[in-house]
Amino acid sequence: SMYQSTPSSETSFVQKLRTSGRSLVVFYGSQTGTAEEFASRLAKEGGRFSLKGMLADPEECSMEELAQLKDIPNSLALFCLATYGEGDPTDNAQEFFEWLQNGDADLSGLNYAVFGLGNKTYEHYNEMGKFVDKRLEDLGATRVFELGMGDDDANIEDDFITWKDRLWPAVCEFFGIEASGEEESMRQYKLTEHADIAPEKVYKGEVARLNSLVTQRPPFDSKNPFMAPILEKRQLYTGGDRSCLHIELGITDSKIRYDAGDHVAVYPENDKALVERIGQLLEVDLDTVITLTNVDSDSSKKTPFPCPCSYRTALSFYVDITSNPRTHVLKEISEFTSDPEEKAKLKQMASTTAEGKQEYQEWVIKENRSIVHILEDLKSCKPHLDYLLELLPRLQCRYYSISSSPKAHAERIHVTAAIVQYKTPTGRTVNGVATSWLGRLSLNDKIPIFVRRSAFRLPTRPQTPVVMVGPGTGIAPFRGFLQERAFCLEQGKQIGETILYFGCRKRDEDFLYQEELMEFVNKGVLKLHTAFSREKEHKVYVTHLMEQHKEDLWRILGKENGHLYVCGDARNMARDVHNLVVDLVAEGGGMNKDAANAYVKKMEAQKRYSADVWS
Ligand code: FAD
Ligand code: NAP
Repeated sequence: SMYQSTPSSETSFVQKLRTSGRSLVVFYGSQTGTAEEFASRLAKEGGRFSLKGMLADPEECSMEELAQLKDIPNSLALFCLATYGEGDPTDNAQEFFEWLQNGDADLSGLNYAVFGLGNKTYEHYNEMGKFVDKRLEDLGATRVFELGMGDDDANIEDDFITWKDRLWPAVCEFFGIEASGEEESMRQYKLTEHADIAPEKVYKGEVARLNSLVTQRPPFDSKNPFMAPILEKRQLYTGGDRSCLHIELGITDSKIRYDAGDHVAVYPENDKALVERIGQLLEVDLDTVITLTNVDSDSSKKTPFPCPCSYRTALSFYVDITSNPRTHVLKEISEFTSDPEEKAKLKQMASTTAEGKQEYQEWVIKENRSIVHILEDLKSCKPHLDYLLELLPRLQCRYYSISSSPKAHAERIHVTAAIVQYKTPTGRTVNGVATSWLGRLSLNDKIPIFVRRSAFRLPTRPQTPVVMVGPGTGIAPFRGFLQERAFCLEQGKQIGETILYFGCRKRDEDFLYQEELMEFVNKGVLKLHTAFSREKEHKVYVTHLMEQHKEDLWRILGKENGHLYVCGDARNMARDVHNLVVDLVAEGGGMNKDAANAYVKKMEAQKRYSADVWS
């Protein structure tokens, strides 16, 4: 285990702090890189207050050493912790979480502060941040500053900088220290250009091991994705101007296994046109092969992404060039902006003044500018491309709810993906990174994938009744569930009531898998309720139909111990369904609101109410 009693020099963060003369350690629990980025900014900023900082991944540290941190004078541990999925820690903080939960270490003398990253759309908002903040105190540690909570549904960057601007004065007061001067821009990585390097030594988009996309070796996982061929690709919508793809990925001989309800992740490639545009705007030859080396030799992260690679590879596979850049990126690139007005604009947006925040909110968030749009609109802004690569977040894999069952398709994983395309207020058309890339790919093209297991599962007994609510692409996992139940029926097993609430705009436009669903109905597998929202004057949603079926739903969920599943839009639909379920439990079970809420919580704990939602 990571938590041996005698930590090795590799995992001893206290030893690393000592030998490098540091007193600040910033841990991150990160799934998509935001928490890691925030942590890295805190570690850097500590230098302004003579708190030389170190970034640390809890998965690579002996976290029980937190008890010994007090032996270093004026030491401080900061935590940037994201909450993932249904209130869970991120993968890299899982072990730390369990250690805190189950252990009873004496952490007196440990000084700490926590910033949590969450999303208010989800029920378990910032659960991880809240837990760690409270638990450290319970174990005797000293909270130097209050828990900060970031909401990714609103403006998490703003939440973070507002918190940290109050954190540092509190830290200074706590230790009786003072700021040592203006914040200086410090590059974390040093650039090397390779004039003459053998092609086989250059990364081409691999996640970790060199050449791993060509020389494939199982087991396949997030660090070692499988190159799955696209064996089928077709349009699912029959009308309208939107697009939704059905894709089948081959997993023959990969040893990849999956269950209905799991997710498949894909590592996308950025649009070539955008990549070339950056090369033009910054006047860089994208074929140049580079290495970025961490100037902090104690850091476990030697390079920001696999190096050596060409600028083109980095822009195509490793960094995010389409989301709204955070304020610290604006601040850094302002230094490379010659026009005084443009420079001032960038500086202003990166400042913590009310006007600055307002302008960032307006010009970057609301008008929805990516780094490409910013470089286009501020013509004198010419940051060095290698510095930009250091500043931009890593390009993330995208998850899809698998829309097949291995009982029906053992060697294929099906995906149901709605193509993202929209216009921004500046008149630009934006294409979703992964979905537009999937749209461009051809049959037999191979793409890097891995399967992420989930807890979204049919009941073990096929006789248990189930109610599935999946409007739009939310139908994806339920197609897998239906294949599973049809398989049971074919095996001669009895199956319980299987009800699906599906909703879309119009029957003849975006009714996903209509024919297949009708077949399940005809075979006696499925009872289908459809809500078409744009066929009549007034909206008809799945929730409206459920409202009419409250009594029957209480019979199934309350009296017959049925299971309820919700998939799709987290923002509105899943919340509306949740409220409706509380209502029908209250009415059916004759409970008051509190009792009904408690009942629903119990359903969740017993896995009788599961959500697979995204926003
Ligand atoms: P991106 O380039 O990531 O762009 C999406 C972003 O663009 C949005 O986050 C939003 O910020 C912005 N945006 C989108 N529309 C607009 C608009 N109209 N105006 C302004 N801004 C906008 N998707 C499916 O299609 N099917 C699934 O089965 C599925 N399952 C999922 C399961 C899980 C667990 C999760 C987390 C997500 C799932 N998703 C699913 C969503 C999927 O992962 C991607 O987020 C989605 O395909 C978009 O990816 P993209 O790279 O094409 O878009
Ligand atoms: P979709 O086609 O946008 O919606 C499917 C159906 O659900 C439509 O008939 C829609 O009606 C209806 N609907 C809207 N709000 C609802 C609610 N509160 N309760 C019940 N039904 C509701 O769905 P999709 O194809 O899955 O969506 C495509 C993409 O958009 C996905 O990536 C999804 O995550 C995203 N999305 C985002 C939001 C959001 O607000 N962030 C909302 C929906 C979807 P109308 O469209 O006619 O209102």
